[in-house]
Amino acid sequence: MKKLLLLFTFVLLTSFSADPDVYLCNTKGGKKYHFTKDCQGLRNCKGEIIKVTLKEAKEKGKTICGYED
Ligand SMILES: [Zn+2]
Repeated sequence: MKKLLLLFTFVLLTSFSADPDVYLCNTKGGKKYHFTKDCQGLRNCKGEIIKVTLKEAKEKGKTICGYED
């Protein structure tokens, strides 16, 4: 029983600390990050859509896109 609990805790912790890929519009005005490449918020992106990790996006000062919040 204890082993199972440990395993559960481990899975929970790793899923919380996961660093998924996000997409952002690489322009000066782009302040948002998106979990999906074809998000509404990226449709009027005039620059390049780049893929970074969530951690990188946050380090750049990006915030979650309003459509996905
Ligand atoms: Zn979005």
